[in-house]
Amino acid sequence: MTNRVVLIGHPVAHSFSGGMQQAAFDALDIDARYELWDRRTSELPDAIAELRGDDFLGANITIPHKEHVVPLVDKLTEEAQAIGAVNVISRDGKRLIGHNTDVAGFKAALDKLVGRQKMPRHAVVLGAGGAARAVVYALITEGFQRVVVFNRHLHRAEGMVRHFGRSAAHMDLRAMPWHESVLEAELAKGKILINCTSLGLAGETPIPAELLPPDLLVMDLIYNPPVSQLLKDAAAAGCTTASGEQMLLQQGAKSFELWTGKPAPLQVMQAELDRAREQGPRQLPIDMGSTALPPADSGAGSPAPLG
Ligand code: NAP
Repeated sequence: MTNRVVLIGHPVAHSFSGGMQQAAFDALDIDARYELWDRRTSELPDAIAELRGDDFLGANITIPHKEHVVPLVDKLTEEAQAIGAVNVISRDGKRLIGHNTDVAGFKAALDKLVGRQKMPRHAVVLGAGGAARAVVYALITEGFQRVVVFNRHLHRAEGMVRHFGRSAAHMDLRAMPWHESVLEAELAKGKILINCTSLGLAGETPIPAELLPPDLLVMDLIYNPPVSQLLKDAAAAGCTTASGEQMLLQQGAKSFELWTGKPAPLQVMQAELDRAREQGPRQLPIDMGSTALPPADSGAGSPAPLG
């Protein structure tokens, strides 16, 4: 039986995860196929229920479902519970376990971006979705002293700050309204800017170029396009920049290890990312599912965290 792993999101066609994971399965002679499932929020419960079938090793979860999927799994790791977002599902028999490997992926990417410089203590984060939650949690646990979150819908950023209230009690974590003057003032004080919005997938930028000071470290979690408009503007302003590719690689390696129990072939995965950056994502089976349904929230409660 060929095992299956799926990426569940909306959209999914832009993702490099499929090619990267398929290359890793093939390199280690693991009989598994990675599929892309394009699913709306209202279709998520059925998609997650399907993962209980014996042929599934697990799944990756991407935009916009990382938070919606939390009540749909049977157990959460302590980290996924603390963050309130899941990007990987593995199986323990029929039980589905929700993990968050974005935290470890982001920390590895942050270390690489900072390099030999001293780790900054003041960050500006754009976005308040599932990826932003992992990033903010990573910054809290890295010992940052001030993290300011801007989001198009302020209430979502405020909700995230409330969510982390206790774990961020020792520091200044706050949500601020997305006004250029407020952003500019915070960027002038901050040392690092992390774009966790999906704005940029289609060529836009979240911030006007003139607001970027030259000594800023700028990371855009987007990796396709490999150099987003934000990163182009930041490089032109003299900032040090990084795309989301390292984070993708590192979170993907952790995902692979959870599904297979084997060390991930990092070099193979990086080579596939290099290839995809040059030529675009490898063609994988894309199941678009239904596209006509409106988003719906699941009313279910959260599962217990793993011990
Ligand atoms: P999500 O939960 O859907 O959140 C999307 C975020 O983008 C929200 O903050 C949303 O603001 C904001 N946004 C969307 N459209 C916008 C617009 N037109 N103007 C302003 N803000 C907008 O998605 P996610 O899972 O957090 O992922 C976010 C991005 O990170 C995606 O591009 C994803 O590909 C990338 N990512 C990369 C990696 C990696 O390994 N490199 C890992 C995870 C995610 P509202 O709340 O106001 O709607």
